[in-house]
Amino acid sequence: MKKIILQKGREDSLQRYHPWVFSGAIKSLPDDIEDGDLVQILAADGKQLGIGHYQVGSIAVKMLHFGSETVTIDETFYSRRIAAALDVRRALGLLRDDNTAFRLVHGEGDFLPGLVVDVYGHTAVMQAHSPGIHFDRDKIAAALTSLPDNLVTSVYYKSETTLPFKAQLDPVNDYLVGGGHADDVAIENGLRFHIDWLRGQKTGFFVDQRENRCLLEKFSRGRRVLNMFCYTGGFSVYAMRGGATLVHSVDSSAKAISLTDANISLNFNCDSRHKSFAEDAFKYLDRMENGAYDLVILDPPAFAKRKSALRNALIGYRKLNAAALQKMPSGSVLFTFSCSQAVNREQFRLAVFSAAAQAKRRVRILHQLSQPADHPINIYHPEGEYLKGLVLWVE
Ligand code: SAH
Repeated sequence: MKKIILQKGREDSLQRYHPWVFSGAIKSLPDDIEDGDLVQILAADGKQLGIGHYQVGSIAVKMLHFGSETVTIDETFYSRRIAAALDVRRALGLLRDDNTAFRLVHGEGDFLPGLVVDVYGHTAVMQAHSPGIHFDRDKIAAALTSLPDNLVTSVYYKSETTLPFKAQLDPVNDYLVGGGHADDVAIENGLRFHIDWLRGQKTGFFVDQRENRCLLEKFSRGRRVLNMFCYTGGFSVYAMRGGATLVHSVDSSAKAISLTDANISLNFNCDSRHKSFAEDAFKYLDRMENGAYDLVILDPPAFAKRKSALRNALIGYRKLNAAALQKMPSGSVLFTFSCSQAVNREQFRLAVFSAAAQAKRRVRILHQLSQPADHPINIYHPEGEYLKGLVLWVE
């Protein structure tokens, strides 16, 4: 195995199980090192600190194993890690006849940096965020299909947009095992969703809003609901079941709107309470009537994809929330989210605070929301926290 030696005094973060080695901590690299190589990380005194996948960039190594023993990173290694991840999902009660969609592997949060796996029915949709995971994809697919009870029978690999561009790996999105339809139906808390992993965003569905959608359902009875940035209509479907009097879904993508419409009819046929609009969020909020909705969801895409975009992202969150708050009637409820990893909880809360002040509304926080437990946060890797939300009572 190739060896990377760290600068003197830079072993601390690995001794604290931080899953990344930054390039600035490295003293020497082998001349023939390549993207995706399996590497042994040594302290300046030559002691092994662990094993990981090398990649070009400021995050130079993603760690797979800590400590001095030698481990082989093979199918058995991945099987053990994935079985441990599955134990957590079972403990959470996510594997049920009425719930067949969940995240099985959440990267660093499941001690498998660079790997994301979502399960829909018997299909696992896998994304590689590092070259090392890309090269190991067949081992991982074999580990997934060896899980008990035929849990996974096909594995779809979807890494065209997730692999580091610099690595020039030219990945193809395709099935590694089995096959399936582009459009399978998965069940979340008894509600049915078409999941299009071939053409949809990310793995085809945002599993990470499951618990927040459940909470929304409880607020929906008798309310007029606006689901802004609806994508597959997840929040809309829960609001319908929760007894909303009307549900309007908005997304700028026509494809998202047709997915939403399909999911509404899958669960509620042609229920006239639902309408959808393919329109820009800001334009919709601008033309919307005062007091039209008493439950509003704002779940935009990440406004800050990196730290440098933070300032503009915070302005974006303030403007969006102010535009909604200004027109919400007294006694209404706002579910507002940020999925930007670069925006922390406090910064998001401050942006929403500024929006409330700008709209001159009296606002109370009822709930502070997060990503669900099948998106766990490795305690040594706080960077893994990304989804934040607030439920506000607006007077
Ligand atoms: N709430 C969704 C996930 C939202 S993903 C869920 O629970 O599954 C973000 C969505 O915002 C995408 O579908 C994207 O098409 C949409 N979007 C991006 N920019 C937009 C804009 N300016 N106006 C309206 N929708 C937008």
